[in-house]
Amino acid sequence: MIKTILTDIEGTTSSINFVHDVLFPYAYNKMEDFLRKNWHNPLVQNAVSQVAELEKLSDYNPEIITSILQGWIKQDRKITPLKDLQGMIWEEGYKNGEFQSHVYQDAYEKLTQWHQQNIPIYVYSSGSVQAQKLFFSHTIFGDLLYLFSGFFDTNIGSKKEAQSYQKIAQSLHLPPQEIIFLSDVLAELDSASAAGMQTVWVIRDSSSFSQNQNTPSPHQIVPDFYHISLLLSP
Ligand SMILES: [Mg+2]
Repeated sequence: MIKTILTDIEGTTSSINFVHDVLFPYAYNKMEDFLRKNWHNPLVQNAVSQVAELEKLSDYNPEIITSILQGWIKQDRKITPLKDLQGMIWEEGYKNGEFQSHVYQDAYEKLTQWHQQNIPIYVYSSGSVQAQKLFFSHTIFGDLLYLFSGFFDTNIGSKKEAQSYQKIAQSLHLPPQEIIFLSDVLAELDSASAAGMQTVWVIRDSSSFSQNQNTPSPHQIVPDFYHISLLLSP
């Protein structure tokens, strides 16, 4: 019997494009302006000095730091001071109402319904816990933070390793069989399934859904949240 839901964000509750088409370009374009305005903020200075150290710069200004950071964004480098500064810029953007994070209508309705049925819902995403909270507190449906009982990121381990799902189950004090994991990525679902969790493969692309719909799979395969069945006793 399913006691708890664990969900991925990108491609599952939300469009995969939002992060790439909205968040990343926004941070890229706002970087210089943000650094100039917040240059003396200790959190900004801390990130900036890490950038300077990595690049062995003794003399630098917002313009120089911006061009380094923009280069890293273009190369898709995951470097801590870059992630920190992007997080600060996104936070400001969300708070100023410059954008709202995307959540599919079906995900919004079903998450709300499960929440009303007192089924705990947790998130497991590769974005930091802080970024996940920011994401769900500024959605097109408003602040949805109240729907979730907790958040996991890759501090618990990679989403493609069974051990990470075992650790999540342990931290929730539940046998994995009582947790259902929702994702759009097969390798993540295979790992969750290997750890003993129930799994739902959310395939939002309709042609990809019709191709995969009838293939034998240990995962429940659905085109959206409306089709998810929680009545999958092992
Ligand atoms: Mg995903």
